[in-house]
Amino acid sequence: MKNGVKDLQLLERIWQAGIVGAGGAGFPTHKKLVKGVKLLLVNAAECEPLLSSDRFVMRQFSRDIISALCHIRQELEIPRVVIGTKAKYTKEIDALQQAIDERGAHIEIHRSGSYYPAGDEQILIYEVTGQTVPPGGIPLDLGIVVSNVTTVWHIHQALQGKAVTDKFITVTGAVAHPVILRVPVGTPVKDCIAAAGGATVSEYVVIKGGPMMGKKYAASQLDHLHILKCDGGLVVLEKGHYLDVFSNVPMEHIINQAKSVCIQCSYCTELCPRYLIGHRMRPHRVMRSIATGTQPTDLEDALLCCECGVCELYACPMHLSPRRVNIYVKNLLRQGGAKVRDKTVDPRHSHMREYRQIEQGRLMQRLDLLPYPRQVLEQEVYQPASVSIALRHGIGKEARPVVAVGDKVQKGQCIATVEFADVGSNIHASIDGTVTSVDGCIQILADGGKAL
Ligand code: SF4
Ligand code: SF4
Repeated sequence: MKNGVKDLQLLERIWQAGIVGAGGAGFPTHKKLVKGVKLLLVNAAECEPLLSSDRFVMRQFSRDIISALCHIRQELEIPRVVIGTKAKYTKEIDALQQAIDERGAHIEIHRSGSYYPAGDEQILIYEVTGQTVPPGGIPLDLGIVVSNVTTVWHIHQALQGKAVTDKFITVTGAVAHPVILRVPVGTPVKDCIAAAGGATVSEYVVIKGGPMMGKKYAASQLDHLHILKCDGGLVVLEKGHYLDVFSNVPMEHIINQAKSVCIQCSYCTELCPRYLIGHRMRPHRVMRSIATGTQPTDLEDALLCCECGVCELYACPMHLSPRRVNIYVKNLLRQGGAKVRDKTVDPRHSHMREYRQIEQGRLMQRLDLLPYPRQVLEQEVYQPASVSIALRHGIGKEARPVVAVGDKVQKGQCIATVEFADVGSNIHASIDGTVTSVDGCIQILADGGKAL
């Protein structure tokens, strides 16, 4: 027991298993869960258009999820556990409620509306508790820990002695057979697309993550792209799709647009989810400041941007990019060591919130995603001939390899490590095979596979 507290048994298992947040930035879970918080809030409000991996996990592994939550609650002495999901996920709610009833567990299910971004952790906290995380703060400031529902399933696996080796990935968009694949960590993205029947268009781009917040890659970049522990979706889009074109606009042009085209209508602010929970996030003022050079303190609002994309992909009538301006400004401010100074919450912002939520169907229409099927095939297992496993899966430091080229490894074997005190995650072989490279990442050739 490293810190002399009994909760380390659970946290050590999580650390050993190499668990990171499955639904976003990949923050190491053993550094996030702490003893004695007031509320453990499970983020089960999957809200990125077209993605459905979390819902699959909720339906398929509801008993495992509830079992893990009971364990966490007891060991970390957490008085309240709430699963925050959308009311329309009725099958998932039924499965979870049944598992709760079977165990007699004291776990609540909160049902929210079908809007974007219901799965933003600060929005979910507001939904469930009515409280706003202070600007620049974290949920722990309110005594709350938020954990993605698939992360909770990984904790269940860790309690059974199993490390994070597999991921559930929604592969969808312009592919022949949209599907949820169960793949080893480190599987080539190209293989995932091929396993979904391949692209249905000759020229395409791939969004890793969801259409709103994911990162876009050209087909030519896919050779070096592999599945990380924090990945949940791949969206294939025809080259020239609205989202492709929109993300290609260079920053210089975006700033010129802010100068010449922004009409200061402030729709971007009025629909900003963070503004609507009381933060001083006013993208129209950031746009004005970057355009005119006046009121430079307004630029500090950019530090509060969660990069959800509502302002640029939904709100702005002029098709401008306040989000990208925020990211640009935020990076500059952080390089200069800027921190959020004004941590006040203005509750007046939220009185219009219920009328300004963005319904999922309207968002799909705006993003030109309606032609793609919302239903996908459920879990096909895919085994690649080789994997390339990164040494870092999201936030934190790289793991240190403990294998060498030529070593035989087995699925689940630890191949790179971090210390318990580190913000980082242990890495495990995701297939049985032979290590062929340890250079920035660890490549493993499957037993019977062909050389890379
Ligand atoms: S919504 Fe667009 S045009 Fe209106 S203030 Fe924001 S950036 Fe400018
Ligand atoms: S991306 Fe736009 S809408 Fe989302 S938090 Fe940032 S400013 Fe607000």
